[in-house]
Parts: sequence; C-alpha cells; structure tokens
Amino acid sequence: MTATILLIEDNEKNRYLAAFILEKRGYRVLQAEDGQSGVALAHQLKPDLILLDIQLPGMDGYTVARQISGEPSLAHIPIVAVTSYAMPGDRESILAAGCRGYIEKPINPATFVGEVERHLPPHLHPGAQQP
Ligand code: MN
Repeated sequence: MTATILLIEDNEKNRYLAAFILEKRGYRVLQAEDGQSGVALAHQLKPDLILLDIQLPGMDGYTVARQISGEPSLAHIPIVAVTSYAMPGDRESILAAGCRGYIEKPINPATFVGEVERHLPPHLHPGAQQP
C-alpha cells in the first residue's frame, strides 16, 4: 500500500520540489495550491498525512489546520506545517491550530523525507513490511 500525502502549497517551485522528493521515495502526492481546495481534497481523498504551507492566499494555513483538525472524520490525519516563519510564538500558534509538527523552509532535500516520516506510522513508509 502506498501512503498518500496531501501537499498544500501556493508556490509552484516549492510544491514541485517537495512532490518530486516524496514521489521519488514512493509516496502518492496530491497537490493543492490554496487552502480551500486543500480542505476539499482532504475531505474527498482522506490522505495519510498533510503537509501545509502557512502563508497561503485567501484562507491561511492556520485556518486550514483548524478546519481539518476540527472535523471529526479528518482529525486523525497528521498535519505538518512547512513554513519559513521563525518568530517566537509561531511554533506555538502552529501547534495550537492543530498541526502535529513543523518543518522549516527552505526544505533540505537531504533530510526532508526523514522529517516527514517522523509523523507517519512506520507501516505507511514505502517498502515497509505489511502486518
Ligand atoms: Mn506560501
């Protein structure tokens, strides 16, 4: 079984790089370029994990995280913020909005998969033995 990761990111270059790295590792990657379509895709396709940019046009990442984590049918899906915010308090705000963790931008291609997989159960990692 291939785990599905939903990537919500408005910047095309960032989206392309993250999707490329994750697909190379063996994940199925769904992409949304704004918060509203990201929330809609989460409802339709129930991904195994969501990677969420915070600075998005229209609905920002905090709102996206609150909507998804507050929806009973989606609340189990881990949401990981991917953002360049580095102000004191931002991390707390991100966690308070319902994200499980935080990956700093720009992403480091050498460590990105490992950072993502900290938030995915081992049996969903590509190549894992099925129970
Ligand atoms: Mn952005």
